[in-house]
Amino acid sequence: MSRLVMKFGGTSVADLERIRRVARLVNAEVEAGHRVAVVVSAMAGKTNELVAWTDGSGPAAQGVEPSDDEYDVVVASGEQVTAGLLAMTLRNMGVRARSWLGWQIPIIADDAHGKARIDDIPPEKLTAALDAGEVAVIAGFQGVTRGGRLTTLGRGGSDTSAVAVAAALGGACDIYTDVDGVYTTDPRIEERARRLSRVSYEEMLEMASLGAKVLQTRSVELAMAKRVPVRVLSSFVEPGEASGQGAGTIVCDEEEIVEKRIVSGVAYSRDEAKITLYGLPDHPGVSALIFGKLADANVNVDMIVQSHARENNVANMEFTVGKRDAARAREIVQANKDEIGFTEVRVDENVAKVSVIGVGMRSHAGVANTMFKALADKGINIQVISTSEIKISVLIDAAYTELAVRALHAAYGLDKL
Ligand code: ADP
Ligand code: ASP
Ligand code: MG
Repeated sequence: MSRLVMKFGGTSVADLERIRRVARLVNAEVEAGHRVAVVVSAMAGKTNELVAWTDGSGPAAQGVEPSDDEYDVVVASGEQVTAGLLAMTLRNMGVRARSWLGWQIPIIADDAHGKARIDDIPPEKLTAALDAGEVAVIAGFQGVTRGGRLTTLGRGGSDTSAVAVAAALGGACDIYTDVDGVYTTDPRIEERARRLSRVSYEEMLEMASLGAKVLQTRSVELAMAKRVPVRVLSSFVEPGEASGQGAGTIVCDEEEIVEKRIVSGVAYSRDEAKITLYGLPDHPGVSALIFGKLADANVNVDMIVQSHARENNVANMEFTVGKRDAARAREIVQANKDEIGFTEVRVDENVAKVSVIGVGMRSHAGVANTMFKALADKGINIQVISTSEIKISVLIDAAYTELAVRALHAAYGLDKL
């Protein structure tokens, strides 16, 4: 019998009525003959509430390390509740089930608290439960370190739990969420967005990492590396409605996609902050110094531009970091001001990154120009540009995010797919 992992996100388990509907969807797969493991998120809004509590406990005093390990203990608790509730609901319907917390399986992860990576999932215990005909209801988002501490996988991490469990069990992974698939852009911003029946792992990876939060980036990375077949489906249906062939979005190899597109999607992220360093000395080693210090502090830097003044051998450097890291990044450069040698640092949080993604860009010229022209036509100024083989990203004023997304969606004809 084939093994199937079904993952349900926060809105899908937001209340008891929705949990009952999830239980009906799970039961349908059991009745169809699958061995089912379910991965659940916390109820919608719960993780935000837990994170806010940890913030509310106050900043670490001078010289005291932030308690990232205890942050994990708090924020992982939301998933324990939904795992227990779904297992209970399934039993009440006559389906054999039990809940599994990360440490019980175990889902072994590293100790990068708050953004841990899964190292290993020994499959024996889950396989035994599944083979005995029991549904395994797994708390997503959480793992356990080799030292026995609780850890979490970063926001949206239940997707990664689900793909990792599917890889460990050798099964497929269905991600149920509040939209019925992956769209050409966020359907909440552009109502003309179209559902993609298939999207390649590579494009999905770019879309996710550029802000389309429908799948966590690491889940796509993992699916691609372990060749896990992934589908994205709506949980807002009853069993039998909108399932089977043609429903949702299949994330697969590029070769399996017949209709080739130049651009497949537009993504945006408001989670950026732009940091500008003015008056840097223009000599070798400056970038290595700045970005080395930031890397040592685990701050990820994304877009980077350096501009040179014509005189005085000074330069300005602009780069982006995640909003949550902005204060830390500023502190780090300030603390090393003399060594780096800049005159002023500014942080701008009113920025957004808008990106177009498509594997067809590899073989087509003019894709960037369409983007720049569409933005110019709307009077949107581009602050930073970065490109790769299959995407182009621009940093703009956050106030124009939705306008830019819609303009680009139309410019590439995505509403007519
Ligand atoms: P879950 O709680 O199920 O994990 P998320 O909120 O993390 O759900 O992800 C689903 C949301 O992702 C959708 O409600 C949608 O607004 C957003 N989204 C952003 N970009 C896209 C896209 N290209 N296609 C589909 N959904 C998208
Ligand atoms: N509950 C966690 C979050 O909100 C994990 C997830 O939903 O995937 O980030
Ligand atoms: Mg999610």
